Amino acid sequence: MAECVNCRQQVDDDAENCPHCGQDLSEPVVQQKPHCGTPHA
Ligand SMILES: [Zn+2]
Repeated sequence: MAECVNCRQQVDDDAENCPHCGQDLSEPVVQQKPHCGTPHA
């Protein structure tokens, strides 16, 4: 089981949307795409 990032309710790992609040779960928030064209300071 996974946890909804919005309402913190238990949701199915395969669920694309939270059945409790409707949060879109198709894109895991843990993945951060690198910013292109942004040089490191
Ligand atoms: Zn939710």
